[in-house]
Amino acid sequence: MRTRDWDEQEDESPTGGTREKERALKETRSVYRQADAAYAPFSCPASGECCQLARTGRQPWLWQPEWELLVKGRPLPPPREDGGCPYLDAAGRRCTVYADRPFGCRTFFCERIRGPARQPAETVGALLERLERVSQRVAPALKAPRPLLEWHAEAWAAAPPEES
Ligand code: SF4
Repeated sequence: MRTRDWDEQEDESPTGGTREKERALKETRSVYRQADAAYAPFSCPASGECCQLARTGRQPWLWQPEWELLVKGRPLPPPREDGGCPYLDAAGRRCTVYADRPFGCRTFFCERIRGPARQPAETVGALLERLERVSQRVAPALKAPRPLLEWHAEAWAAAPPEES
């Protein structure tokens, strides 16, 4: 299944322009909605265990527009001492950016998930391709997604908040 890259007609802004970046964020949200729809038949205990990234050794990999959505309009949280995702709440149980959480967080499939026997792999693959195309439009130099903690560490080093 291939899906349209853009919800609206193209404009003529140069690659990486502000308007195109806004379109990329809108498109990324559209991809997220479709991922959520694909996973609607599934449920999980929402324990937050999969967000303990150092403990699991796994983390979401983000294309540039995904990272932009995470940092847009909110302060950058400090790294967690337990190696968990910086976007966990203080108790380490709940995501504080749930509406904007990355694609990988929406499609993470662990043994505790409940629902149909097969996950929607074809849909996930098609949506991932679409995310890549969206990212390539605004950040063509980025050839692959990057781990969330890598994005975060780079941003934290570049602009540490005053309270750090
Ligand atoms: S962004 Fe949210 S859902 Fe994803 S790993 Fe971090 S806390 Fe968990």
